[in-house]
Amino acid sequence: MKFNLLDWLNNNRFLDLKLLQWAVPLFLSVTAFVFEFIEHGLEDGFNFGLAFSSETIIFGLMGPIIIGFLIAWLRELVNAEKKAITEVQVLNRELERKVEERTSALEERNMELDQANHELQHLDQMKSEFVSLVSHELRSPLTTLNGGLELAMQNAENMPPLARRTLKAMMGESTRLTQLVQTILDVSRLEAGKLDINIGPVALRPLMEQAAEVILVPTGRPLDWKLSHDLPPVLADEIHLETIIRNLMRNAEKYSPSGTPIQLFACQEGDQVRISIIDHGPGVPKEHQKIIFERFERVNSGESTPSGWGLGLYFARKLILAQHGSIGVISPSWPDKNAPGSEFYLLIPVENSSEV
Ligand code: ADP
Repeated sequence: MKFNLLDWLNNNRFLDLKLLQWAVPLFLSVTAFVFEFIEHGLEDGFNFGLAFSSETIIFGLMGPIIIGFLIAWLRELVNAEKKAITEVQVLNRELERKVEERTSALEERNMELDQANHELQHLDQMKSEFVSLVSHELRSPLTTLNGGLELAMQNAENMPPLARRTLKAMMGESTRLTQLVQTILDVSRLEAGKLDINIGPVALRPLMEQAAEVILVPTGRPLDWKLSHDLPPVLADEIHLETIIRNLMRNAEKYSPSGTPIQLFACQEGDQVRISIIDHGPGVPKEHQKIIFERFERVNSGESTPSGWGLGLYFARKLILAQHGSIGVISPSWPDKNAPGSEFYLLIPVENSSEV
């Protein structure tokens, strides 16, 4: 270890520099004077001449004064270091106190956040239970209403045109409401982790054909099928996958001008199958492409915007993620400025994929 004179002086309790500052010069002065006295007194026969005076002044006075100043300077240095050490210690203590204060404030804040989080989770659960309860309660009267309306529709030919139109409009609205209630129920069940998801091998061709049969064929819209011949089965929940595909088909139908074709595409890409539903609608602007998968997010394009609740894609995304798949949108799909279209696609693992 390197020797540090200041440290040594600082730590040596037996060294009193204040005393040394006076004692050492005094001792040296007395010693020099006695020495000179003896030298010149005894050896030169008490001849105290110029040599005696000059040597006494140099060795007995100036030397001790210089040494006294040196010790005083050393003492100043030691005192300055002591003061600096004390200041550092005070600063250290202050710092430790501040760190302790901040740490306990952070712990307190953490506890508050934890508590708030708990309360939010509780509220969220209460909200889900409430929504689920209300939706459940709405479902039974809606089923009765739908049944009654369907019965009435069977005799619609005998009704006056106005009553028939009103009945048709009522059926449309009632179907929309039923779909909304069902979606809300499914979303709250999925969020609460109570929606059963049974994953197994699913043949895509019949599933897509069935979905198109229900959603698109009745509208008379031209369909452009592009399913590859060697489409392997995928690993998914058949019922939920069909719900998602129906949802995307319903959107393609809803958001693209009637009469324009909708392309239905499926082919294998690595260890996944890609299903695409491509329309000739107005497309989805780039800045909206991510957020339309969030709850209640819609692209508002004025009064002509078809009605909706912004829940379909949110539910579709949650549902496909629960099946280890993914969903996305690519727009524009066509080089037509007036109808750039959009492609909503699903990626689903094939049955023998090692990823799942
Ligand atoms: P909803 O259709 O009830 O509004 P969705 O969650 O299904 O709810 O869709 C969210 C939004 O995404 C829609 O409001 C619409 O703006 C946009 N969108 C969805 N599908 C299409 C599509 N095929 N073409 C253009 N926009 C679409």
